Amino acid sequence: MAKQDGILIAGGGPVGVLTGLYLARHGIPVTVFDKAPKPPEDHRAATLQPSTLDLFDELGLTGPILEQGFKSPHFQWRDRVTHEIVAEFDYGRLSSVSNHPYVIQLEQHKTVNITLAAANAHPDFVLHRPVEVLAVRQDADGAECDVQHEDGRVETFRGRYLIGCDGGRSIVRKTIGSSFDGFTWPERFNIVSTPVDLGALLGFRLRNYCSHPERWVSLMKVPGEDGKGLWRCVFPAKTEESDEEVMSDGWIAARFEECLGVTPEVVHRNMYNVHQRVAGSFRNGRIVLAGDAAHVNNPIGGMGMNSGFQDGITLARKLIDIWKGADADALLDRYDRQRRLTAIEYVQAQSIANKRLLEEKDPEVRRQRLDDLRRTCEDPVKHLEFVKRGSLVAMWEKSEQIE
Ligand SMILES: Cc1cc2nc3c(=O)[nH]c(=O)nc-3n(C[C@H](O)[C@H](O)[C@H](O)COP(=O)(O)OP(=O)(O)OC[C@H]3O[C@@H](n4cnc5c(N)ncnc54)[C@H](O)[C@@H]3O)c2cc1C
Repeated sequence: MAKQDGILIAGGGPVGVLTGLYLARHGIPVTVFDKAPKPPEDHRAATLQPSTLDLFDELGLTGPILEQGFKSPHFQWRDRVTHEIVAEFDYGRLSSVSNHPYVIQLEQHKTVNITLAAANAHPDFVLHRPVEVLAVRQDADGAECDVQHEDGRVETFRGRYLIGCDGGRSIVRKTIGSSFDGFTWPERFNIVSTPVDLGALLGFRLRNYCSHPERWVSLMKVPGEDGKGLWRCVFPAKTEESDEEVMSDGWIAARFEECLGVTPEVVHRNMYNVHQRVAGSFRNGRIVLAGDAAHVNNPIGGMGMNSGFQDGITLARKLIDIWKGADADALLDRYDRQRRLTAIEYVQAQSIANKRLLEEKDPEVRRQRLDDLRRTCEDPVKHLEFVKRGSLVAMWEKSEQIE
């Protein structure tokens, strides 16, 4: 067994690497294990919220992120039935509460690679990949994990604490016996990308949501591999449509045509199931959960990965205090209270509300909700509240207040 007096992290996705970087920067040895040979480059989170950029300042990550990403202060909400722009929200109004009153549009794997480059510069940060965590356990003095290397060799590592950042299907969460309460939406989402500049063509901002009772669409721009820009569109698939049909050229062309009136070249497509779930507990003794291992949500609003970053930094700060002698039980219990409650009250509630607004079927309810959104946008106080919530600035403030 490799003897260690540090922290073990199962999962080197965005949250695991960020948490590891934060700990290593504070002199705590971390060993991260990831079963994938490299960060997946398929289409996942693409939005870095102002609250995240503020937290990243401390780690020196914001500079490279600003260099590689697209800055977007606005997002637009349209009604695809009437073709109106219902509301255009301005993150610029966050300038009194955030150093970054805009989002950055950047593909998830690029954010991970920037974080990883910073982490690899620290001698206290070690990432083993591709190495799969097979089992975790704990005793009164520490936590252990059995990992399997590519050649089949199984090795055991030991640390003082273990963090499960191993995503939605977390084996760490299952091992500590935590429930994963919530539900799975019946429809799947198909994320499709095109290099055709839909913004220039159709007057979109870099982030947009177009509501429709049957066929809504969300659109955003990311830099793409050449930095010139790719438009990512999310189309919901009906339950009766087969996977094969939804991934076909014909289905995608039909969605572009009816939603946007164009049939652009398509360069990527990626269909997935969407869940709303929160772990019953984020902590069991010396084993703690963060990121998608603790909570998953639909992508409308770009909140999942960003809230995971908040988990990682909240937890890392507590572990640093524990290293200095603070009461571990008190701090880790507070972590559970802070992050579980806010995951439910902010990310779950807002992402569900966003999806329901996009897809509302009852014409009268739909009209009322879109009118409410318009009025929120027109009222300076409500506008600020709305963008504080959407940007997760309010979530961070609330989480920090919870004792
Ligand atoms: C297909 C897909 C599409 C998505 N699309 C969007 C989107 O459009 N917008 C949006 O906002 N969010 C999206 N998300 C969510 C977003 O990607 C997550 O919120 C974010 O990745 C969470 O980061 P994480 O580090 O907590 O977990 P993950 O990114 O899931 O990272 C977990 C890591 O753990 C590793 N791992 C898992 N099990 C083990 C094990 N046993 N041993 C070792 N390593 C292990 C994995 O290889 C992975 O690298 C999407 C997620 C998926 C899966």
